Amino acid sequence: MPHDHHDNHLDPMDARVRALETILTTKGLIDPAAVDAIVETYAERVGPQNGAAVVARAWTDPEFADWLTRDATAAVASMGFTGRQGEHMRAVFNTPGLHHVIVCTLCSCYPWSLLGLPPVWYKSPPYRSRVVIEPRAVLAEFGLVLPEETQIRVWDSTAELRYLVVPMRPEGTEGWSAEALAELVTRESMIGTGIARAPEGVA
Ligand code: FE
Repeated sequence: MPHDHHDNHLDPMDARVRALETILTTKGLIDPAAVDAIVETYAERVGPQNGAAVVARAWTDPEFADWLTRDATAAVASMGFTGRQGEHMRAVFNTPGLHHVIVCTLCSCYPWSLLGLPPVWYKSPPYRSRVVIEPRAVLAEFGLVLPEETQIRVWDSTAELRYLVVPMRPEGTEGWSAEALAELVTRESMIGTGIARAPEGVA
């Protein structure tokens, strides 16, 4: 029989989650269909397009950008994006001299309501430990090579406070609508392991 490693090898967190779901279901405390519905919501309906809409609005609406700087939780909620656990949001803005990156060194805290499900690498122990120690090297592995003079700041997310990176608006997008700009905002650019896409035809 072929041995399929992925089916048989649960990581400890997956195993704990499965065990908890089984116990809660057996005791009649949760309905597995409800759990599936929540997972489906985050997998298919809540995704990086929410965060991209926030970033594009900040690029085009200085008053909103100011609000996002002062009180990201309220600014983001005004667009209909709120966290399930009521966690607070903080937006950190990239500049030519300062680049922000987010991580959760303890587990996998992530701005779900804005970015959907976290990528697998975000939860991986190497990313969580190394990005704090050698962010420039880790970013280079993502294909992001920043100028030497650009400072990198790493933000450690928690259950209470989660971060959104607002990437710099790409050049050559003067006069673009927020809707068109949102197409340039990638998930990686809002984690800080990437930057916003350049528009077609702009190097
Ligand atoms: Fe966490």
